[in-house]
Amino acid sequence: MATLHNLGFPRIGARRELKRALESYWAGLISADELERVGRELRARHWAVQAQAGMDWVPVGDFAWYDHVLEWSATLGAVPARFGQPGDEPVALDTVFRMARGRAPAGAPAAACEMTKWFDTNYHYLVPELHPGQRFRVARTALFDQVREAHALGHAVKPVIPGPLTWLWLGKGEAYAGAGDAAKLALLPALLPVYEEVLGRLAAEGVQWVQIDEPILVLDLPASWRNAFAGVYGRLARMSAPILLATYFGGLGDNLPAALDLPVAGLHVDLVRAPEQLEAVAAGLRPGQVLSAGVIDGRNVWRADLDAWLARLSPVATSLGERLWLAPSCSLLHVPVDLDEEDALDDELKGWLSFAHQKLDELALLRKALGPGGAAESPVAEALARQRRALEARARSRRIHDPRVWEAVAASRELSLRRPPFGERIALQRARLRLPSFPTTTIGSFPQTPEIRGLRRAWRDGSLSDAAYEKALRQAIADCIAFQERIGLDVLVHGEFERNDMVEYFGELMAGFAFTRNGWVQSYGSRCVKPPILYGDVSRPAPMTVGWTTYAQSLTDKPVKAMLTGPVTLLQWSFVRDDQPRSETCRQLALALREEVLDLEAAGIRIIQIDEPAFREGLPLRRSQWPGYLRWAVDCFRLAAAGVRDDTQIHTHMCYSEFNDIIEAIAEMDADVITIETSRSNMELLAAFEDYRYPNDIGPGVYDIHSPNVPDVEWMVGLMRKARARLPPERLWVNPDCGLKTRGWPETEAALSKMVEAAHRLRGEAA
Ligand code: GLN
Ligand code: ZN
Repeated sequence: MATLHNLGFPRIGARRELKRALESYWAGLISADELERVGRELRARHWAVQAQAGMDWVPVGDFAWYDHVLEWSATLGAVPARFGQPGDEPVALDTVFRMARGRAPAGAPAAACEMTKWFDTNYHYLVPELHPGQRFRVARTALFDQVREAHALGHAVKPVIPGPLTWLWLGKGEAYAGAGDAAKLALLPALLPVYEEVLGRLAAEGVQWVQIDEPILVLDLPASWRNAFAGVYGRLARMSAPILLATYFGGLGDNLPAALDLPVAGLHVDLVRAPEQLEAVAAGLRPGQVLSAGVIDGRNVWRADLDAWLARLSPVATSLGERLWLAPSCSLLHVPVDLDEEDALDDELKGWLSFAHQKLDELALLRKALGPGGAAESPVAEALARQRRALEARARSRRIHDPRVWEAVAASRELSLRRPPFGERIALQRARLRLPSFPTTTIGSFPQTPEIRGLRRAWRDGSLSDAAYEKALRQAIADCIAFQERIGLDVLVHGEFERNDMVEYFGELMAGFAFTRNGWVQSYGSRCVKPPILYGDVSRPAPMTVGWTTYAQSLTDKPVKAMLTGPVTLLQWSFVRDDQPRSETCRQLALALREEVLDLEAAGIRIIQIDEPAFREGLPLRRSQWPGYLRWAVDCFRLAAAGVRDDTQIHTHMCYSEFNDIIEAIAEMDADVITIETSRSNMELLAAFEDYRYPNDIGPGVYDIHSPNVPDVEWMVGLMRKARARLPPERLWVNPDCGLKTRGWPETEAALSKMVEAAHRLRGEAA
């Protein structure tokens, strides 16, 4: 019989209990004891769920108050000096929170630790801070306490910790260039004794397995990093209970021989992302070594094809017996907690879906089916048949397949080219738009005040009529247009007051999307997102933004720029179907948006912005797969944009990631104007745009909208001078880094007035 285990369970709670408790604690509304109590209850509940589902080992260490990487950094004593952690005292929970939220001990601001995306997920971790000569020590005991807690509840426990190489890889520091910098490996001699101490203490607690996560083994690793594994694990294996080395989010690829060489007791591989590695891994195991097969998708919400896994795994199960472990592909952190909490979804759709609870049940069923006589035994056979019927129903469902969408996609192959080159188009656009030099604009959203949110809520729950809602929103748009005219902006926007979220808004107006009520997934700290579920062929039954945009345009002679969320971003921020390639789904999204673009143009809108903030996040983890992704992602953007007349101007917007290494792809998107985040990096990004001679118009963001501070005119002019030194002035726009929806009106007014003043200053200098 195969063994069952889980790599990690969502910690936030089915009703976001952890979020509530954290925010109450930060607000001073509950005590530390109360917070600890909520954490304990959640852990106990989650272990019980996993044990009841049949897991032979439950994970401990997957719980974290804010982030598991941060928790681990604190455990290793890696607390930056500005958080005032004295030499050998334990690191307190409040210190952990200060690292995440940016306060020095006395409550004064101290830069929070940097936060960034966890591999290719939408989860964010806090970046470990490293420096040469750094000392480490076991500085928190939460892990050991939780092991004891789980033991006391009678569970068979498998602690889960980030591996030393992955932890170092993710770390940053002034002395180091970044992820692959081999200089960080010099910290290993200081770090490994602390790992040894942790593993020794866990063994002393009586644990029989330890899971050490080394997801960097699915990346392109420099030889120095790959070669470091043998020494590290040779050393750790001596001190420790048997080690299960966990890899996920991709295949081991060229790191497979190195992984198979390690003296660890077991290896977990992601067979959802990289099914092809099963046989090679199985064949490479040493006698006695465990293979943990990640077969249930920890990154998506669909039921698994258990029949297919049964066929695939049977030979391995026969040869490995208990040494075959079955697991989700990765931690279940990335999926919602429990489908049974959903009352908003209809039964048909629910029949296709699987959240964390359901995924564990699927795993248990698969084990039974693989067991002696398994699949033939009646309750198992019935459960398998039920799963099979659900999958077949999904495959056949008319809700998924729309032949009109396929026809449109088939006919779309030639539609992604805008004929005349940028040089010709921009001349026509300038003649039509008659903008001053250094034109000013914003990224789209204006402050989402409590009143605006209240309006939307009241309309949604039916207490505000359609007519009253429409009237109130029109008033907000009119105020926003008047505001922008008063400030003196050149290209106006309607303000996006109707949008709760830039993906959800469009998803709700397109066929093919469904929305959960409780499908929350942790994004960072107490923040959760509720990604839409893109389950079927996508189409646009009716215009989505034309009404609001044309109303705004009717109020002013200045051009109003329409705002759309781009196809790649809609794809990237949803749970998308797994029954066709992502590229196909993206084309469908692009075609639906293309219709919207054309309707906007037909209604007289002269500028249309298609936001792609998630464009870079879609990049595959392995560089060899970048060109394939970039090809279809660029093509989809162009498909959405390219139907317009030459004198209609297409903008795009990207923010908060590094664009230097994909600058050529960005240029191939061929937007007439790109507004892009640069202020925080002090226009560093422009170096790339200059080296590559970015050909189209560009609006490098001149102030950071994440801060309430009002930017200084001189500072913004200085940034734009830097831009002007590198790019032709007639191709430059002046705008903030991103949308203003999180800001208040007074600071927005102050900041934009200064920005307009900066533009005037620049025009004066040019004249
Ligand atoms: N148009 C969107 C806004 O202004 C863009 C948001 C984003 O880049 N994430 O809010
Ligand atoms: Zn942005």
